[in-house]
Amino acid sequence: MNGPAKLFSLYPERPEHFAQFLGRFAAEWNWRDPLAPDFLNAFAPRSVFGDYVRAELARAVSRAAPHVALDHVAGEAIDLRRRGGRVDIVLSHGETFAADHAILATGAAPSRPDLPIDAAVAASPRYIADPWNLEAYERIPRTGRVLLLGTGLTMLDALVTLERRGFAGRYTAISRRGLLVHPRREVVPLRDFLAEAPLPTTARGLLRAARQELARTTHGRPDWQSLVMAIRPHVPALWQRASDAERARFVRHLRPIWETSLHRAPPRSAQLLERGRAEGWFAHRAGRIVALDPAGDGRIVVRLRGRGRPEIDTLIVDAVVNCTGVTHDWSRAQSPLMANLLATGVVRPGPLAFGIDADWQHAVIGRDGVPAPDLSAIGHPLRGVRWESSTLVELLQQAIQLANRLTGQVLAAGAGRIVAAAE
Ligand SMILES: Cc1cc2nc3c(=O)[nH]c(=O)nc-3n(C[C@H](O)[C@H](O)[C@H](O)COP(=O)(O)OP(=O)(O)OC[C@H]3O[C@@H](n4cnc5c(N)ncnc54)[C@H](O)[C@@H]3O)c2cc1C
Repeated sequence: MNGPAKLFSLYPERPEHFAQFLGRFAAEWNWRDPLAPDFLNAFAPRSVFGDYVRAELARAVSRAAPHVALDHVAGEAIDLRRRGGRVDIVLSHGETFAADHAILATGAAPSRPDLPIDAAVAASPRYIADPWNLEAYERIPRTGRVLLLGTGLTMLDALVTLERRGFAGRYTAISRRGLLVHPRREVVPLRDFLAEAPLPTTARGLLRAARQELARTTHGRPDWQSLVMAIRPHVPALWQRASDAERARFVRHLRPIWETSLHRAPPRSAQLLERGRAEGWFAHRAGRIVALDPAGDGRIVVRLRGRGRPEIDTLIVDAVVNCTGVTHDWSRAQSPLMANLLATGVVRPGPLAFGIDADWQHAVIGRDGVPAPDLSAIGHPLRGVRWESSTLVELLQQAIQLANRLTGQVLAAGAGRIVAAAE
């Protein structure tokens, strides 16, 4: 995970809860984080967090009141229709079920990079479109050369995956600006300086407030990471107050800087990356892919233009891994549900086409402009409404808010039955 275990407890009032689970896992599997002094500060494997969530869900179900049930339907929802206070959910295998309330908790869709990729390359086993398809990595020759499209956390995931599998070749990572993922450091928190005055409405205003705060700090220059941590809790409110023009400016000019500042690498992965750079088997570049063509022998010819340079460089690689992350634009996602909901107007795009529109209480706002009483959204779909809406910390806050609202509104009305559909 990309943060210490103390951040990921499912119970905010008990920050040690996940760390204790991790401690039990560590004792059973003889696991440890060599860089952490204790389990609160350990960076857990993601699968352990999955086990933790599953265990807590099972515990919640076993303790629920007798009239509350949870059904898990394995199936793909392809459409959802709101009619007269009920929501019909249509599954791809034809079944439909009705609900009093539906929640869109779909996560984000993998991003399809906006690249001129030759059809033969796109179809080739050496072009790995889905970086989380672990089997695909088997196709990469052990001492080959790999192009990683992207220089953020997904790129680092791909690198760690390949290294664990004994890959002994070379990597080149490329992104438009070439901003490489930063290592996460444990920093002394700055005081909550944004809480003291009305929030700025522009990025420039925010910069001014940050500069003033830094000038006021008397005990040496704080680590820039502590500034990011102080700003982060205010991001949804800052985003909400900004005009569309200001948001667009932020996305155009500052987004990559903000993303790499916020989404930082766990220390051990960052160490691996540093070693790769020092030993020369990992390099990153700023530039734009102009074409990905087949080399004729299974390899891929990469033509790229370095940032600020007129000439086109050519690189021949054994594989290309798409590490460009996820997309929040529902019109570009390969999801029948998202396409259908947009087409029927049950949802409408969120600001700047990020995610979907909703009010501050999570109620989805469709084409009619009215917050739906029977349809909510949580997490990635709210990217455009809140900007930061994807990390587990934000997901947990939102889940608690939404659960509190719904238990008052829906479940209290009578027998409660929760149906979770997942592919
Ligand atoms: C590789 C990776 C690593 C991450 N690591 C961290 C981390 O360390 N720390 C952190 O804070 N955040 C991390 N995140 C971000 C965040 O925690 C995850 O994105 C998180 O899993 C989002 O949870 P979610 O429940 O909203 O969506 P998801 O976990 O994506 O779940 C969405 C679910 O909806 C289902 N679904 C979607 N569409 C349909 C449909 N039409 N019909 C039926 N089911 C559907 C999917 O099958 C899935 O089960 C990471 C994200 C990724 C991708």
